[in-house]
Amino acid sequence: MLKKTLKQKRERVADALPDLAEVMRGSVVKRYLHCGKSECRCRLGRGHGPYNYLLTTLAPGKTRTVLISADQLQMVRRWVKNFRELKKGLEKIVEINTRLLQVDRQQSKLQSVKSRTGRRR
Ligand SMILES: [Zn+2]
Repeated sequence: MLKKTLKQKRERVADALPDLAEVMRGSVVKRYLHCGKSECRCRLGRGHGPYNYLLTTLAPGKTRTVLISADQLQMVRRWVKNFRELKKGLEKIVEINTRLLQVDRQQSKLQSVKSRTGRRR
């Protein structure tokens, strides 16, 4: 692939990346809770809720559970999606840059061969 094509592709990927500030690693889960009161109706049913929680890892092996309000739910889902898209996009850019390095080296090799043969004439 041409260097120019690769650079254009890289630019397209970079332009489509989501906002860096609006990201969240983790997943949103629904949970029902049992309050523990002996005469509560939740003892028989599935519990109170559903409540939405964000499960996120802040350090390896350290998972944090954060309660999300109904108002926050859509935003948090978008942040989680953004994080995945950002990661995917960055991987794509890394792949393109790897190819660019290879193409660049091949071209400079060709150029040095050309200039060497040029000098001999
Ligand atoms: Zn209850």
